[in-house]
Amino acid sequence: MDLDLLSQTLAEIGQPAYRAGQVWRWLAAGAGWQEMTNLPSSLRGELAERLPLSSLTLREEAHARDGTVKALLHTADGRPLEAVMMRYRDGRRSICLSSQSGCPLTCSFCATGTMRFARNLTASEILDQALHFTRRLRRAEEEDSLRRPRGRAPARVAPGTDAAATLTNAVFMGMGEPMMNLDAVLAACERLPDLGIGHRSITISTVGWIPGIERLASQAMPVRLAISLHAAEEDLRSELMPVNDRYPLDQVIEACAAFYAARKRRIFVEYVMLAGVNDRYEQALALARLLGAVRGTAGSTIFKVNLIPYNPTATSAGFAGSNRDSIEAFRSVLADRGIPVTVRLTRGRDIAAACGQLAAAAG
Ligand code: SF4
Repeated sequence: MDLDLLSQTLAEIGQPAYRAGQVWRWLAAGAGWQEMTNLPSSLRGELAERLPLSSLTLREEAHARDGTVKALLHTADGRPLEAVMMRYRDGRRSICLSSQSGCPLTCSFCATGTMRFARNLTASEILDQALHFTRRLRRAEEEDSLRRPRGRAPARVAPGTDAAATLTNAVFMGMGEPMMNLDAVLAACERLPDLGIGHRSITISTVGWIPGIERLASQAMPVRLAISLHAAEEDLRSELMPVNDRYPLDQVIEACAAFYAARKRRIFVEYVMLAGVNDRYEQALALARLLGAVRGTAGSTIFKVNLIPYNPTATSAGFAGSNRDSIEAFRSVLADRGIPVTVRLTRGRDIAAACGQLAAAAG
């Protein structure tokens, strides 16, 4: 929903300003126009005629065996973007949001980086990605309650189903660099708690766009920061991520230290595992040295590393993912040197769930 257009339309038809808040609360609960029962039915009809429920149109949806759903959406001016919902056994429903259509930063291993950059998304277009999945969860819950015999409580939620579930987490790791569109990203984050996603459950991921990291450090909103690092050596990082020439690794690490000093929140480090490129023993040692040199409260490390098994794409420019043994060896080098490290669960591998894969394939 274009929320500015909603307010403007309500004003044009002589409705009080509080109606915008009423409509938003229904939208945030995943409702359609006809379910907004505290609005007069004539108003519901008029709004339905004048305003699309979403600023985005669904073009394609892919469903993985593990319950991951990926949506290819288009803005009103035809710009493609993607959003993904991942389901976890512990009940979490995490969404991966895009902040731009395409991306100007051309990281060599990334499908989005091969697409033409279109534009920044608006706050409403970012929120509409989340609302797409909120509506899907509400519909699933309604279908479940219709199937259930009267009076019987909902069964324990099984993995891969949506009964009695809401969104719980959001990560800005979809298409685009969120720090290049930070006003819209923060405006969207302001409203995500209305959908069930608390600020502490939101992670903004950046390639190391230093002005954005500095600005985020000064915000009151307690969102988390993640850095896409992918190499601990300047030259290799510049090869993989040309943005490193503008914001070199040592300065990015300094900005992270300042962020930690201001916010006292551990920073996630994303490291995609590319076979023969950044997965060697000495590269793990270099990463451990780089991250271990920065210490926070009580001498503990301020970073937590996520090793990401690479999801190859049709546009992978010759990159292949590291095998399981290499990832485990890399992990243990970091763990042995006191760097907290996990290997990310691969989600949606059978539906090209990595950033930009669906849009790059479609376009
Ligand atoms: S990895 Fe992120 S910043 Fe780099 S090209 Fe892809 S979307 Fe852009």
